Amino acid sequence: MIVEYNNFRFQVENPSSCPHCHNGIEPREIYNNADRGLIYSIFQCTFRECRKQFVVAYQITGQTSAEFKGFLDGTPIGPHWTDTIKNLKSKFIATYMQALL
Ligand SMILES: [Zn+2]
Repeated sequence: MIVEYNNFRFQVENPSSCPHCHNGIEPREIYNNADRGLIYSIFQCTFRECRKQFVVAYQITGQTSAEFKGFLDGTPIGPHWTDTIKNLKSKFIATYMQALL
């Protein structure tokens, strides 16, 4: 993706996964804007059951370069639960994931 800002053009790498569903995707770029050394880009997940939008921040590191800084939203990837814990069907995992937000 190319971002134009202050007459400079920045080449940034599109994220390769979605922060909501955590699937590997080629996200659709919707919008981007730069401010005070940061580029903010809005992408849409292309995974059919997700299609959520998310914001990615890039740190401008040079006249034409910017580095992935992080997702500004999404859901954290929780620990890998063993089947024993999953099969308990308790609210433990949901409560745990809620606590991460
Ligand atoms: Zn997604």
